Amino acid sequence: ADTLARDPAAPAESHLFYQAHGTRPFIDRAEGIWMYGQDGKSYMDAASGAMVCNIGHSNPRVIAAMKEQLDRCTFAYRLQFQSEASEGLAAEIARLMPAGLDKVFFVSGGSEAVETCLKFARQWAIAVGQGSRYKVISRFPSYHGCTLGALAVTGYTPLSAPFDPMMRAMPKITTPRQYLDGRGEDPDAYGRRMADLLEEEILRQGPETVLAFIMEPVGGASTGAVVAPDTYYPRIREICDKYGVLLIYDEVMTGVGRTGRFLAAEHWGITPDLVAMSKGFAAGYAPLGAMIAPGRMVRQVLDAGGFAHGHTYAGNPIACAAGRAVVREIVEQDLSTNAACMGERQMAGLQALMAEFPFVGDVRGKGLLQAMELVADKETLAVLPKELNAASRLVDLAYERGLIIYFRRTRGGAEGDHVMITPPLTITPAEVDEMLDRLRGALRALHK
Ligand code: PMP
Repeated sequence: ADTLARDPAAPAESHLFYQAHGTRPFIDRAEGIWMYGQDGKSYMDAASGAMVCNIGHSNPRVIAAMKEQLDRCTFAYRLQFQSEASEGLAAEIARLMPAGLDKVFFVSGGSEAVETCLKFARQWAIAVGQGSRYKVISRFPSYHGCTLGALAVTGYTPLSAPFDPMMRAMPKITTPRQYLDGRGEDPDAYGRRMADLLEEEILRQGPETVLAFIMEPVGGASTGAVVAPDTYYPRIREICDKYGVLLIYDEVMTGVGRTGRFLAAEHWGITPDLVAMSKGFAAGYAPLGAMIAPGRMVRQVLDAGGFAHGHTYAGNPIACAAGRAVVREIVEQDLSTNAACMGERQMAGLQALMAEFPFVGDVRGKGLLQAMELVADKETLAVLPKELNAASRLVDLAYERGLIIYFRRTRGGAEGDHVMITPPLTITPAEVDEMLDRLRGALRALHK
């Protein structure tokens, strides 16, 4: 209850209705990986908000860039004016993308970025005379966003089921999770076998109807940082090429350095056809997302009459000024490399915690996108009883110790418990160690 400190100026009854709202302290200020509540306590941000604040809070360079833009012009509609901020950021992104992915369409968030990819893919297919293709195969479990289009390709039943009649749910294949369904199998063989599910699904649907396949290269909140075996990624690319199916990488969570490379796709040398990005893009400093597409495809869509899509706030100068400064910071401070190094240190710590606590059943991830799964039985990985609310309680116990972690009561669309440990990419070795100490304290308290 001591975390319930209220702003004296806040009304007694909140008029907001976010889930679990009202149980957390009011935010006062934040700096680096630290957040300060109006309860007088400091909190280590081991969630980066929701895997957003990749360069930490209050970065002076980003704030200066945003202030400069605020002083000059706060909004210019993209169809009425060009802006240096959006041109500059698009050029920077094109330079960092795999060759060929050189056109950027800005939006304001992850769901919008996914929607943009889906609609662009469809319009491209029509433009090149393949209008029979409209199905987008995705995976179960997965998370691609909460708007109806993004939800149609999201494999996360509790979030999608209520809306089924309002959208056309798209075909899904199983997301590889070897720790659950491929134990003991050779990882290379498992990776290929799981990728081959895509070929089976394309054939079942009829290749002439299949537009695209969308995947998170490393699972986000729906699976908890699950990485497929290395053989999975090139095989998926091959299958998409074989059937003329577009490969869309949802790098909303994984992009901009989070997994130890600018794009997660780089780990496997994959060039997707379309990429969705957001979260770490403007790193919490402003709402920003983007679809990145090859100039060749963009020209085809434009020649066929244009892209029937766009949001009012797309490419607004303040968000782009923030994004530009964030991306420069990531590149110049080589924060992807720091994410890879600190990720190794953190993973070693999580493995030690797994050895220490009987209910920590799995730890996994890539770079600083990592998760810990809580189970009833380490051998069978049986889930903990729902009434225990283990992940949620762990988050509360972490709060009490000044640590913020992110949780989902899911093991991928179904019941289960995992927490994500995803600090800003700027984290130092000493901070990783302190974070792990606080997490150990919370796990001990949970164990009692
Ligand atoms: N795709 C992925 C992989 C995500 O993790 C998320 C957000 N968790 C989204 C899309 C949706 O992004 P937003 O919440 O900004 O709409």
